[in-house]
Amino acid sequence: MSNLKQGLFVVFTGAPGCGKGTQARILKERTHICHLSTGEMLRQFAEKDTPLGRSLKAALERGEFASDAMIIEMVKNRIAEPDCANGFILDGFPRTLPQAEVLEDMLAEQNVKLSAVLEIQVPDEIIMERILGRYACMQCGAGYHDKFQKTKIYGVCDVCGGTEFARRQDDNRGTVQNRLVNYRLLTYPTIPFFEARGLLKTVDGTGTIDAVSRKIEDVLGLRDDV
Ligand SMILES: [Zn+2]
Repeated sequence: MSNLKQGLFVVFTGAPGCGKGTQARILKERTHICHLSTGEMLRQFAEKDTPLGRSLKAALERGEFASDAMIIEMVKNRIAEPDCANGFILDGFPRTLPQAEVLEDMLAEQNVKLSAVLEIQVPDEIIMERILGRYACMQCGAGYHDKFQKTKIYGVCDVCGGTEFARRQDDNRGTVQNRLVNYRLLTYPTIPFFEARGLLKTVDGTGTIDAVSRKIEDVLGLRDDV
């Protein structure tokens, strides 16, 4: 027990569109601990000339998803790297109950005890509104939203002045509904698992980005200015 590493080791979880990626990036800026997004890690690992990198790249090129075993191996390698010794924010992992069980074992091997599992709760209707309203500038990629982040001048990108915009094809009602159902079926069972271990902290994710990040800092005990 005395060998436990000191630091802030958190898992961010919640339905797709709850804002966990954005909030993880904000917390990283504030604390300088690693932000481990499985989506970004997959893209990076697939570029590496290692056995894992090559098999991952081949799978992605065949249009397949990365297997559970690959994702687990990737996370395991990443959290053992020195820059994770003082903390990390896991974003996108664990996605399933078996992954949560594996995570517990791999952290024990690293002498790491999770500080908290932070669930960002947003009702499905609001998630739908957030995802269906988003679009991006086709020239520079700047992101906007029909309701929450409009361009300053209608139809003109604030960043580059471009006038053509596009929505992601998978940002449609059916796809989002499927992702929400998958979340309930596959990821949600990890919530009671972490709750039983006294790790779960729940934050209401419906406010502004700033308001939600303040709540997250509160529940993690990072706000010393109040
Ligand atoms: Zn632009």
